[in-house]
Amino acid sequence: MQWETVIGLEVHVQLATRSKIFSGASTAFGAEPNTQACAVDLGLPGVLPVLNEQAVAMAVQFGLAVHAEIPEVSVFDRKNYFYPDLPKGYQTSQMYHPIVGAGEVEITLDDDNTKCIRIHHAHLEEDAGKSLHEDFHGMTGIDLNRAGTPLLEIVSEPDMRSAKEAAAYLKAIHSIVTYLGISDGNMAEGSMRCDVNVSVRPQGQAEFGTRAEIKNVNSFRFVERAIAFEVERQIELIEDGGKVVQETRLFDPERDETRSMRTKEEANDYRYFPCPDLLPVVLDQAYLDHLRSQLPELPADKRARFQTELGLSAYDANVLSASREMAEFFEEVHRVCGDAKQAANWVQGELSGALNRENLSIQNSPVSAHQLGELISRVLDDTINGKAAKQVFQALWNGQGKSADEVIEAKGLKQVTDAGAVESMIDQVIAESPAQVAQYRDSEPEKRGKMIGYFVGQVMKASRGTANPQQVNGLLKEKLDALL
Ligand code: ADP
Ligand code: MG
Repeated sequence: MQWETVIGLEVHVQLATRSKIFSGASTAFGAEPNTQACAVDLGLPGVLPVLNEQAVAMAVQFGLAVHAEIPEVSVFDRKNYFYPDLPKGYQTSQMYHPIVGAGEVEITLDDDNTKCIRIHHAHLEEDAGKSLHEDFHGMTGIDLNRAGTPLLEIVSEPDMRSAKEAAAYLKAIHSIVTYLGISDGNMAEGSMRCDVNVSVRPQGQAEFGTRAEIKNVNSFRFVERAIAFEVERQIELIEDGGKVVQETRLFDPERDETRSMRTKEEANDYRYFPCPDLLPVVLDQAYLDHLRSQLPELPADKRARFQTELGLSAYDANVLSASREMAEFFEEVHRVCGDAKQAANWVQGELSGALNRENLSIQNSPVSAHQLGELISRVLDDTINGKAAKQVFQALWNGQGKSADEVIEAKGLKQVTDAGAVESMIDQVIAESPAQVAQYRDSEPEKRGKMIGYFVGQVMKASRGTANPQQVNGLLKEKLDALL
């Protein structure tokens, strides 16, 4: 039996507002427990929430970026449940009239194919607090700093068919929200988490199978691993005559498995009702137009432009547009040197290699985009050869010089293209290598081309790497052939 996997994601994105969604308390990460939870976040009697306009603007920007309908009116609802990290006894969320309606996101798959994943809706809600189990023996600590932090929950349609597609979708969302600047996208700090809904069905069957929902997965890799495990579990269960039950499961990265947490709750378990403390949100056309005019170029548009306007391959365009920082760095390098292909090669090659080795992000690159662009210009105008360029890059990386030109000057790396100077170096190498010359003379003509490498190497060495390898090659061939 062939099985098909069906996946839908609910992604929680923490919005990068400075204060909470309904109060003025700070949202900064890492503060001492319970120093950033005010009376509103705690839901003390008599307090009233005030909606943070910035959170509304950010949610709408997301909606516009995914070509979603933005309804004129959206409404906050109370989702009632008891949990120690939820002192109010309800979470303020949006159930019936979310702020963002149906939209779509384009994802890029490994083979450079793209696929559209539909977004069902996205709604605003507040985060809960956090239970701390370590450091407390036989007790649980509660930190309410996170209570009231604005979240945008983005709910996809069940359009993904593999773990790879799910990861690609999550990356696409990550890239959109960070391009928009509405979230820092920091998954390690919990700024982006997702619930993964997974089901399987026999290939060709129209109805979906029963799904399990894996809660709070917080890395791209874990999403893939959790799905891989869950798909296998469900197929085995069905093939052994069992039935998948609709339930909430937890992914344990240490044991690489999912475990049942509780059976699925229904909407009516939460006794949703419109929050009487908050007015409906009404957005007019002028406000939407204003936000639309502020949108930056988005990843999919950038990717397309890198291909059509700059002539980059689909692969290069994809890598270079993945994050806004990467794209902006590349564009600056390109602006300075004028050659998109070279800029793409250097950013993805030498620069990314060095950043990876030292575990640095591109924002913290010791070599600036401007410096790299100038360095590439010096290769393009033949001031230095490719080998010297790598030396210059290393020197700039180590802070030994402010610009490529300064390093080239200080280290005497300027390419020697004066034919006379190159010829005299060649003559000297030939004079000092009688055995190799004899060998060259005695070899088959078709093998000589390969042997020339030895001489090129010697001349490059004699020039301390400053000769132009193509020029050396041509002149050497002439001189050696004259000796035949
Ligand atoms: P609920 O409101 O109970 O959480 P929804 O119908 O809103 O359920 O769906 C939640 C998420 O589950 C959505 O992302 C949706 O795409 C996904 N989903 C729904 N049915 C399935 C299914 N059979 N298999 C996989 N994912 C599904
Ligand atoms: Mg849900």
